[in-house]
Amino acid sequence: MSKLAVMFTVLLITSGTVVPASTAASSSRKICLFFDDGWENHYSVVLPILQEFGFKATFGVIVKYIGMNRGTFFSRMNYTELSFLKQAGMEIACHTMTHTHLLNVSKEVLDEEIKRAKQVLEAHGFQIETFIYPYGEFNDTIQRYVAEAGYWCARTIERGVFFPSEENRYSLPGWVADTKTMDDFVSFVESVPPGGVGCIVYHFISDEGPAETTVPVNLFRKQLEYLKENNFEIVLVSSLFSAPPAPPPTIPWSILTLVVASLFYGIALFLIFRRRTRKRRETTTSGSPVSSSPLSSRYFS
Ligand SMILES: [Zn+2]
Repeated sequence: MSKLAVMFTVLLITSGTVVPASTAASSSRKICLFFDDGWENHYSVVLPILQEFGFKATFGVIVKYIGMNRGTFFSRMNYTELSFLKQAGMEIACHTMTHTHLLNVSKEVLDEEIKRAKQVLEAHGFQIETFIYPYGEFNDTIQRYVAEAGYWCARTIERGVFFPSEENRYSLPGWVADTKTMDDFVSFVESVPPGGVGCIVYHFISDEGPAETTVPVNLFRKQLEYLKENNFEIVLVSSLFSAPPAPPPTIPWSILTLVVASLFYGIALFLIFRRRTRKRRETTTSGSPVSSSPLSSRYFS
């Protein structure tokens, strides 16, 4: 895509000319559940619990890690397990190719981690609409790559709630539940206003995982029970947005340069021609007395 096309896309996005799918008025308090990093634990432990509650969730996978470390606690889901999640109505999201830091990296790295990772997942039959920033890191350039790759939305790890809009579709907040108590959880979900959305981010759901990235199974169940009993609406994040605007047709820079150069030479030729015509007129009238009328002075001065 040319720079012009990218600029136009970002202009459309930032100008708010494209209305999200979620504008249907709803006063329900919405929660999006996220499970990051593609742990096998999400398939063997989380999926059955979600199905018990009738909840849908988004699973952010790291493409190069799919199917890794099988047989260990740090086992990652393989493509077969991801397909079962999809069949169960869950969303598979892209969490990059290698979970690398994206700030201050080359164009090639951004291409690989954001665009190519999406293409690989789609080649395996998954419809990829959501991007998840590793470590929650992003800036304008990264956002532009995410938009250009055709993602519908992207999530960070900043605490907060939101109302879906074109301005925030690529910087959605996500509240990380790891290490938090039930009181912390209640305080966060109760901060979601009517019609608003809160994203909750989980990693391991286990009684054995690393404390800093794990929520015990019983606490997780209690949290889902709270959501159910208090009538929160559990939605997939991608359902809150419509497809991003299609980029305008790409105009190669060589053609643009040619058009500008032609215009420049055209104007130059016109000015030269006009000057010569004037001179010729002055030569042919030089034998005649000079008119002092305002009209002639206007045209021949
Ligand atoms: Zn992650």
